[in-house]
Amino acid sequence: MEPIIIANWKMHKTHEEARSFIEGLKPLIAGKKAWIASPFTAISSAVVAAEGSEIMIGAQNMHDALQGAFTGQISASMLKAHGVKFVLLGHSECRHIFNESDDLIRRKLERALMEGLIPVLCIGETLKERESDQTHAVLRRQLMSALEGTTDFTPLIVAYEPVWAIGTGKVASPELAQEAHLTCRKILAELSSEQVAASIPILYGGSVKPENIAGLLAQPDVEGALVGGASLDVNSYHQLLLGGTT
Ligand code: PEP
Repeated sequence: MEPIIIANWKMHKTHEEARSFIEGLKPLIAGKKAWIASPFTAISSAVVAAEGSEIMIGAQNMHDALQGAFTGQISASMLKAHGVKFVLLGHSECRHIFNESDDLIRRKLERALMEGLIPVLCIGETLKERESDQTHAVLRRQLMSALEGTTDFTPLIVAYEPVWAIGTGKVASPELAQEAHLTCRKILAELSSEQVAASIPILYGGSVKPENIAGLLAQPDVEGALVGGASLDVNSYHQLLLGGTT
């Protein structure tokens, strides 16, 4: 399977910058799939610029309700209407800065599936949790609570993103990532079946760069990456799609 490399642009790029990035990327990728989680305001321009290519445009979050009096929020159906294909849910910045709870993330995930968006469920432990040996318990809690009550949760992508590695330059070693991914795979199998768990791509996120992606992708349970900083430059993102530099 071709690795899934998702660019998370966070709060970067105007609609013009998004358009110019995608126009620059298109001729480079020749049939390869690319995944870009764009800010809301650039989604429309990004979708238009990506036409005729394998570049999928996603969003970085959404509200769990279908519609209503939720000032400042965006619904799954609004995203769908713009051509959005996937949505990041439970990113650590949303959990830790905006206090999104496991319960809210579960409701968003259900809504995304109902509306036909691919949820990219982000999970991961803080440094304190890792140092106190709670990593497995945290991954179990975050996965179980997000998927509780959902009998068919595919299509789903899981992104294991240790909080201590996001935007810090401290990438997890390939071995550490593999161990966490295998843990996630086993929990997914408990929640569904080994066959379903094997079909769910598990991506690694946290300070991925063209120089370190190859070792991560070489692991048997690492099916791609969710990348922030190194996805903002078109050549760097292209290098990531190629599997990195050696
Ligand atoms: C992210 O935003 O999900 C992320 C992993 O960021 P960075 O690659 O900059 O660590």
